[in-house]
Amino acid sequence: MGIVNDVLDDGLGGLTHNVITGKLEELVNWSRSRSSWPASFGLACCAIEMMATGGAHYDISRFGMEVFRASPRQADIMIVAGRVSQKMAPVLRQVYDQMMEPKWVISMGVCASSGGMFNNYAIVQGVDQIVPVDVYAPGCPPTPETLIHAIETLHGLIETNQILKRREETGAGANVHVEHVDAGSTPVLLGGTR
Ligand code: SF4
Repeated sequence: MGIVNDVLDDGLGGLTHNVITGKLEELVNWSRSRSSWPASFGLACCAIEMMATGGAHYDISRFGMEVFRASPRQADIMIVAGRVSQKMAPVLRQVYDQMMEPKWVISMGVCASSGGMFNNYAIVQGVDQIVPVDVYAPGCPPTPETLIHAIETLHGLIETNQILKRREETGAGANVHVEHVDAGSTPVLLGGTR
């Protein structure tokens, strides 16, 4: 009886979905979460743990993610693994802008997330100044288990489409608004005007 009422109230949305009644959007989001390919973007020591996550012991091919792409055109997740220097920031942004939509960002480690112990002029104090971060993996360095937890958290957000809805409303990732820059346009200049 409850199922009938749900259907009357919500249409097919009230059904418990199976492969026939499942909404196309949900299927697309589920597929996206299970087939995301990371861009190779190891910047410092955190990248070693990221590589370990791709190895046989932790094996992120379980999540369809073993193919780290050298070309941003073939990637939809950027794992920023390590500290971001001011010199690297425009490059990072250009790679991000060249990635496919929809795309997501994981900030791996305290250096990428906040500058960490490198509180100086050479290091960007948080990669969310450059790209919209969706999930932060804490630690110095985060263990492969921590990175896998971040990846699974991201997959959950992709499945529910929360990130894209939030971006449509605010343009933001986790909490910071970053202007969209068309690929091929002037790189982001930190601390200055374009
Ligand atoms: S968070 Fe630690 S391991 Fe990662 S880049 Fe910084 S210093 Fe290296």
